[in-house]
Amino acid sequence: MRGFIIDLRKAKNEDSIATLLTPFSVGKYYRFFGARHSILQLGHLVDFEIEDDRGHFMPRLRKLSHFGFPWLYDNNRLLIWHNFLKLLASHLCDADEVGSFYYELLLQSAKKWDKQNPKRIVCDSFVALLEYEGRVHTEDYCYICEEPLLENIALMRAFIPAHSYCIYGCAINKKKFFNFLKTKKSIYYNDEEIDLLYTVIMKGL
Ligand SMILES: [Zn+2]
Repeated sequence: MRGFIIDLRKAKNEDSIATLLTPFSVGKYYRFFGARHSILQLGHLVDFEIEDDRGHFMPRLRKLSHFGFPWLYDNNRLLIWHNFLKLLASHLCDADEVGSFYYELLLQSAKKWDKQNPKRIVCDSFVALLEYEGRVHTEDYCYICEEPLLENIALMRAFIPAHSYCIYGCAINKKKFFNFLKTKKSIYYNDEEIDLLYTVIMKGL
């Protein structure tokens, strides 16, 4: 099976518990520490098999091999990748079975992570995800006071629009933002604006 390590926690004796996102599921697996075992790395794409030992509280990972991406050694890109995964991991932590959408989203993102501003990829992917989950908000009223929106808006968690004076948020142009939600393409935003959108995304899903 193939999956992304979207969460990694230490267990006793340097063993670890990894959460893997595959095209079909989100699963927690146990990994024994061992000199001959390759070290698990958060965010990596791996091929693995599962050893489901009865009596053991968690299935174990075996025959694990890593797939490399050229940007994995670029600290800045890796940090943004980890942040993106943390967001997904906490969103999917209660899920058991998931559609291939999330895995594909990560895979397509990983393939171009070194070819453009990774925060821009996060923005585009985030809107695709909101659309997939039917959570795109393009209503023309403020989430807080329910009055009509103005020319400029501010964004709450999950890109929910509100008046900037209602949430004390940074103001952005409404028309441009709604167009971004519709097209899922961030090309009309410069890197500074992408930074701002990325900050909103990091508030969580
Ligand atoms: Zn308001």
